[in-house]
Amino acid sequence: MDKIDLLSLSRDELTQYVVSLGEKRFRADQIWGWMMKGHTLDEMPNVPRSLTDKLKEISYVPMPAVDEKYVSTDGTVKYLYRLYDGERIESVLMHYEHGNTVCISTEAGCPMGCAFCASTLNGISRRLMPSEMLGQVIMTMRDSGERVSNIVMMGIGEPLDNYDNVMRFLRLVGNEQGMNIGYRHISLSTCGLVDKIYDLADEGFPITLSISLHASNDETRSALMPVNKRWNIEKLLTACRDYFDKTGRRISFEYTLVGGKNDTEADAAELASVLKKYCGTMPLHVNLIPVNNVAERGFVSGNRHSIDRFAQCLEARHVTATVRRRLGSDINASCGQLRAKKSATSVAPEN
Ligand code: SAH
Repeated sequence: MDKIDLLSLSRDELTQYVVSLGEKRFRADQIWGWMMKGHTLDEMPNVPRSLTDKLKEISYVPMPAVDEKYVSTDGTVKYLYRLYDGERIESVLMHYEHGNTVCISTEAGCPMGCAFCASTLNGISRRLMPSEMLGQVIMTMRDSGERVSNIVMMGIGEPLDNYDNVMRFLRLVGNEQGMNIGYRHISLSTCGLVDKIYDLADEGFPITLSISLHASNDETRSALMPVNKRWNIEKLLTACRDYFDKTGRRISFEYTLVGGKNDTEADAAELASVLKKYCGTMPLHVNLIPVNNVAERGFVSGNRHSIDRFAQCLEARHVTATVRRRLGSDINASCGQLRAKKSATSVAPEN
């Protein structure tokens, strides 16, 4: 019999479950309260042992456990979490003026194969359950003692490749009786699974969608991101425009600058023109990310001057651009780098 994952249940589902075992409703409230504080069934002092023992036979709470933790000189904290089956994933706690933000992983590894990314070096082990995404937020708050007001799904994995679990996670995290983090404070980043972008538009979550674009033409994008061979720039940007038309939510485009590959002024001009061609009816914003060097990949970032020039070139064409602050660069805060190090001895899949 498969054990029930209590932390993936909504509050109502948990109550129904506990009541179905012949228990009072307030026991469910107690269990819920402890789980939201990052406790497992072994750490619920006011719940009778007989009940937690019974629950442990038929259910479990797959709360991630802090395996390693690194604190950057800028205060950014990187967590390496161990999951119930020994898989490892990463989360990052960042401090911004608009509040504390936690960047979470959605999969253990990643199947997408982007050339510059450490998360995909060994392929994917498995998708994360809703509880394991929620658990990253809860444990980061428990460990740091800090409240988190923003969530970004920009850690390890492709959120839209784990669609159903990510949707359930969104419902759990936005639940008014639970974590109650507003959807406007949640961002989801995708490499561009176009069919799922259309599905997401139908869900009606007012989250922020980020698109990892990283190139202004198909040749460069396909070389950096294999997903582009399935859905090219035209299909992706058309989906973005349709998403905006349907939801009214603006989209943020992510562009990782890789020295010598996509960082010239001509690239910036082409980027502005392709965005206007397909998405000219929406406000255009590009977030520039200096590539974090991943030794295994041999990519280097351009210098600060070329990054600023790229940004100016976009602005001159009425595309707003920001350069992402490199928080935590001294602690390998780019997701996937620690996990890759930990599994360096495992064999990479052939592809
Ligand atoms: N799979 C999702 C979310 C995870 S990656 C996506 O592709 O959007 C989060 C962001 O970091 C993406 O924009 C990704 O392209 C970028 N990224 C990955 N490796 C990087 C690196 N070495 N340097 C800079 N950005 C990187």
